[in-house]
Parts: sequence; C-alpha cells; structure tokens
Amino acid sequence: MPRSHTVALSGLEQYTSMKIHEYQARALLAGADIPVPDGDMVTTVQDAVAAAERLSADGPPVMVVKAQVHAGGRGKAGFVKVVRTVDEVREAAEFMLGNRMVSPQTPPEGLEVDRLLVAAGVDIEREIYLAITTDRNRRTNTLIASAEGGVEIEQVAAERPDAILSVPMHPLDGLCPFQARDLAFALGLQGRQVRQFTTLAMNLARLFMESDASLAEINPLVVTPATDDAPDGQVIAIDAKFNFDDNALFRQQAIAELFDPKEEDPDELRAREAGLSFVALDGDIGCLVNGAGLAMSTMDIIKLHGGAPANFLDVGGDASQEAVTEAFRIILAEASVKGVLVNIFGGIMQCDRIARAIVAAAEEVGFEVPLVVRLEGTNVDAAREVLAEAQERLPTMRTATDLGDAARQVCAAVA
Ligand code: GDP
Ligand code: MN
Repeated sequence: MPRSHTVALSGLEQYTSMKIHEYQARALLAGADIPVPDGDMVTTVQDAVAAAERLSADGPPVMVVKAQVHAGGRGKAGFVKVVRTVDEVREAAEFMLGNRMVSPQTPPEGLEVDRLLVAAGVDIEREIYLAITTDRNRRTNTLIASAEGGVEIEQVAAERPDAILSVPMHPLDGLCPFQARDLAFALGLQGRQVRQFTTLAMNLARLFMESDASLAEINPLVVTPATDDAPDGQVIAIDAKFNFDDNALFRQQAIAELFDPKEEDPDELRAREAGLSFVALDGDIGCLVNGAGLAMSTMDIIKLHGGAPANFLDVGGDASQEAVTEAFRIILAEASVKGVLVNIFGGIMQCDRIARAIVAAAEEVGFEVPLVVRLEGTNVDAAREVLAEAQERLPTMRTATDLGDAARQVCAAVA
C-alpha cells in the first residue's frame, strides 16, 4: 500500500477505511442494480484466456484487461488495456502479471499485480465522474460529480474546481430523487439518460449508506453510443472504488470478508493484529502515544518544532505491556526512524506500566536511536523511578518535563 503523505483532517478518511478491489466493488454495484459490464477476476494467464473466450463467444468482442490493485492511475500506467481479440487478452495478462505497476498513486517501486479483471468492454460516448463521500466541513455525505470524468479528473479538480458539482445528502432521508434528477441535467444528460442516471445515483446512495462506505467512486461512469435497442445510449459504471469505515466492519460481515491483507502495509497489518492503530508516514520521528487525539496533537507539535513524524501510533487507553512492546518493535523496525517520542497521558493507562514496557522493549530490541519520554498522569512518580533505575541500560533515553520540551528535544536529536 502506498505510504500516506499528508496528515490533514480532510484526508483522515484514508486512515480509517478499508479498501477493496475493483472487481469486488463491481459486484457490490451489480448487487445494487447498478449496470456494470460482465467480467471475471483471474489470477493466471490461462484463466484470463478462458475468460476472454467466454466473453467473446457471441457478440462484438471489445474486452478490457485491468490490473486489480488498491491504487488508481492504472490507465495511464498501461495496466488497463482495451483489446479486441483473445490473443491480445493473453498478451495483456502476461504483461500485467509479469510487471510491477508504477503510478503516481503507488510507491516508487510499484505494486505487484496478482489479480486481473477480464471484462466486457464498452464503446464510450462520454465519461462522467460520480462519487459519494463524507464532507467533513459540512458534516454530510455528499454526491460529487463532474461532466468531465475519466483519467484527467485530478487535473480538472485542481485547475477548474467549478467543474466539480457537489450535492449534499440529507442525514436521514439520504439522496432525494429531485436532487439526482437536477444533477443529471447539470451533467448535460439527455432523454432516457436522465432516468437511467437518476435510478443509478439513488441506488449508489442507498448502497453507500447500507454498506457503511466512506467512499463510493465511479470514474468513469460512461454513456455508450446510441443503438437500436438503446436510442439514447446506456449509462454504465466501468470502474469502481469503494472504501469502508473501519469502525463499522463489526456489523458488515460480508464487506469485512473482502479484506485483502496483501494490499496492506505490513507494519500496519502487524499493528492491527496487536490491537494498535498505526499509520506509517514519511518522517523520521517515531511516535508512541495513547489516544488518537493526543497522537494527532503530538504530530502537530513535532511539525511545529520543525520535525516530521514517521508514524501515527495510538496504543489505546489500556494497552497491555505486550502491545506496547510490539509497538516499539514496529516503530524501531523502520529504518527511517532516527528518534522516538513517547507521549503518554496516564488516565486509565498507568504510566509505570508504560515505563516498564519501554524498559522491556529496550532490553529486547535495544534502543540505538534517541528516545524522549514524556509521561504524565496516574502513577507518574512510580514511572519516573522505573525509568531512572533503567537509565544506565538506556543511554539514549531522556525524559521531558512537558510536551513542548519533549518535541524540542526529539527534533533537536534527529536534526
Ligand atoms: P484507472 O485509470 O485506474 O482509473 O482505470 P479505469 O478503469 O478508469 O480506466 C481508465 C480509462 O480506460 C477509462 O477512463 C477509459 O477511458 C478507458 N477504458 C476503461 N475501460 C474501457 C472500456 O471498456 N472501453 C473503452 N473504450 N475504454 C475503456
Ligand atoms: Mn478510473
């Protein structure tokens, strides 16, 4: 999974969501009566060929071969290929399964591709962008759409924000039919396209709510050229991206089962197994904090003092000593970490427990990098004694008097 680059509240969605593959998202769309082309997920060239033979058995064979990875920009990277013959499907499958995909949304070394979608292709009259996500400023779920969908949508959004339309959804009623219809007209849809789009948007809004999604994106939603059967063309989804609220997965069994551990950052996965909330970032100061709010403010104060956090890590209100030790292992396993800041407020969590965990972790893995510890709250005096007693065995450790002092010390230590 690509490393997260920014820590902004508006981008918080990506840290608290579970992603799924396009082929899984297409199945959800189909289940919600949203038209998607027929297709198969395959993991071998042989199965890709079999899928192509099935899809081209009758009818004009436009097919599309698509890498299934949790990153966009596949089209421009050459990992979405529109082809016309079974041989071309074989060639595309060999290429995609044999090469790593590199796009602006992947790490520089790219992502390995082990699944493909081989689907019926469609002729495209126009490409529309349609998504639903939560607008945190407005505190509502919001439909976002653009008449200029497709692979250039990021550029459109950056250069001409007025080309992006947004329609807030009512918290209880959801999307209203008149809103969907207005949006259809605003997108320039005509004739029977309006009804098709309205139904589709209503179905998407319902699916978004019922599945506890945090993002439902169709880009592109296409209008196909007119035919005898469909004189105004058809409105069809040919790409889909869904994220789900992690905190709702307990009541979304079927969605939770779509989780693909291979697409996750290995450290984040390890942390999840230990019950820690951990997000890897690009900086060099490892952070071990209890409470998400305190973790956010710890990152802010590191930034304020000119440093850059290497991670977000919340060990939780009542983490066990083992979980804390595991947290240190995860932080210290990262070669980029040049210093560690521990910031604990002992409410439920007792400071002496953290202090003992620091000592235990140090004895196990060894702290070679500077370690700055700021503890406050329950049992803080006992904790200071534990640390003072261990100081000799932990030569790189310093204690801080308060959070500002801690941030200053750790930033100076890694500078
Ligand atoms: P992404 O680049 O990862 O978002 O992958 P998409 O599935 O959105 O595909 C990228 C682009 O490939 C689309 O915007 C289309 O222009 C084109 N494309 C994808 N599927 C088809 C298809 O079935 N027919 C045609 N003609 N073009 C397609
Ligand atoms: Mn797309």
